[in-house]
Amino acid sequence: MKVACVGGGPAGLYLSILLKRQDPSHDVTVHERDPEGSTYGWGVTYWQGLLDRLRDCDPESASAIEAESVRWNEGVAHVRDLATRQPGDEGHGIGRHKLLEILAARARALGVRLEYESGITAENLPDADLVVAGDGVHSVLRTHHADDFGAELTPGRNSYIWLGTTKVFDSFTFAFVETEHGWIWCYGYPFSSEQSTCVIECAPDTLAGLGLDRASEGDGLARLGKLFAHILDGRPLIGRAAADGSTQWLTFRTLTNRSWYRGNLVLIGDAAHTTHYSIGAGTTLALEDAIALADALRESADLPTALARYEGERKSALLSLQSAARYSAQWYENLTRYIHLPPEQMFALLGQRHSPLLPYVPPQLYYRLDRAAGQLGALRRFKRWLGPKLARGAHARALTSRK
Ligand SMILES: Cc1cc2nc3c(=O)[nH]c(=O)nc-3n(C[C@H](O)[C@H](O)[C@H](O)COP(=O)(O)OP(=O)(O)OC[C@H]3O[C@@H](n4cnc5c(N)ncnc54)[C@H](O)[C@@H]3O)c2cc1C
Repeated sequence: MKVACVGGGPAGLYLSILLKRQDPSHDVTVHERDPEGSTYGWGVTYWQGLLDRLRDCDPESASAIEAESVRWNEGVAHVRDLATRQPGDEGHGIGRHKLLEILAARARALGVRLEYESGITAENLPDADLVVAGDGVHSVLRTHHADDFGAELTPGRNSYIWLGTTKVFDSFTFAFVETEHGWIWCYGYPFSSEQSTCVIECAPDTLAGLGLDRASEGDGLARLGKLFAHILDGRPLIGRAAADGSTQWLTFRTLTNRSWYRGNLVLIGDAAHTTHYSIGAGTTLALEDAIALADALRESADLPTALARYEGERKSALLSLQSAARYSAQWYENLTRYIHLPPEQMFALLGQRHSPLLPYVPPQLYYRLDRAAGQLGALRRFKRWLGPKLARGAHARALTSRK
C-alpha cells in the first residue's frame, strides 16, 4: 500500500512507524511543511497508560521516549502567597522537539521517506492509496472539504500563551495571581532537566487591562515574569516571537468533525479533533489515533471498512475526554466561583474540574460530598483488603480446632 502522511507531527510520524512495522513493503512518505527540527510549542504531558500502550506498539520508540521524559508525582497550587501541595499527581513531560526527533529517527530507520519543506495542498496532493491528513488544527486538506467533513470550530473565551522557562519545576505547578484587572494564572511542568513549560491564561478583559495584548514580546514577557516571579525564582520566561515582534496570545478553538474520512483521505490527530490544553491530552490522542488507524488498516478487508471502523472507534473513545476538556476549560472561565474557597478546597476542586456535576452544585457542598464519597471508597477498599484476610484466618482456625 502506498501511503502519504501529510504533516510530520506526532500523529503522522507515529502512524508511519506503525505501518512500516506492520508491513515493511508499505511505501510510506511523511510530508512536513517546515524544515526538520523546527516546531512550535514546548513540553507536553502524558501519563503512564500511554507509555504502556506505546511499549506494546513499538518498544524501541517507547524506550527512547521514556528515557527523554521527566516525571513528577506531586501537584502544587499557589494562590496569592499561599502554596498548597498534594501528593499523587503523577505525570510525565517531554519536549515536543525531542518527541518529534525520536519519532522521525525511528521512522527513518524503518524505511519511511521523510520529506521536509514539503507543504501539501489540495492542488498538489500526492498520488497514493491512502492520504492521511495529520496537518494539525488548521489542516488545509480538511478545510478544502470542510462541508464533507462537517468541521465545527468553537472558540473558548480566554486567551493563552504557550511559553518556556529555565526554571525546572519539581511538580505540576499552578499559580493564580490577582491583579487590578482580574485573575491571571499559569500551569507549569518540567519537560527536561533544563526547562519547563508555562501556559499562561486569563480572561480577555484582564489581557487588555494589563496591556498584554498590545505589548511587544520583550515587554510582555517582562510583565509576566514579574507577575509570576514567586514561582520562577528569578528565571526568565521564554517566548517565541511572531513575525511582527508581538507575543503570541491565542484563543483555543475546540474542533469536531462529523465525518473523519472522505474517499481515501482520512483525518488524524488535531486535524480531526482538539481538546482543551488544560487536560494535556492532545498528543496522547494523536498517538492513539495513529494506533487505531494502523490496527483498522491491518484488520479490515478493504479501505472503506478500515476507515469506517477507525472513525467509529475513535469517535466513541473521545466522547468522555471531549466532555472533560469542555468542563475543564469552563472551570477556568468561571475561576471566581472557586478561587476564594479555603486553599485545600480550591485545590481539590481544581482536580475535579472535569466533572459535569461541579458547575451545578455549590462548590463547598460538592467538596463535602466528594470527600464523603472518597472516604466511602477508602472504606470499601479496606473491606476488600480485610475480607480475604479474615476468611483465611477463620479457615486456619477451623483447621487447627479439627486437629
Ligand atoms: C498551549 C498548548 C499546550 C499543550 N499541551 C499539551 C500537553 O501537555 N500534552 C499533550 O498531550 N498535548 C498538548 N497540547 C496539544 C498537542 O500539541 C497537539 O494535540 C498535538 O501536537 C497534535 O498532534 P498532531 O500530529 O495531530 O498535530 P501537530 O503536532 O500540530 O502537527 C501537524 C504538523 O503538520 C504540519 N503541516 C501543517 N500543514 C501542513 C501542510 N499543508 N503540508 C505539510 N505539513 C503541514 C505542521 O507543520 C506540523 O508539523 C497542547 C497544545 C497547546 C496549544
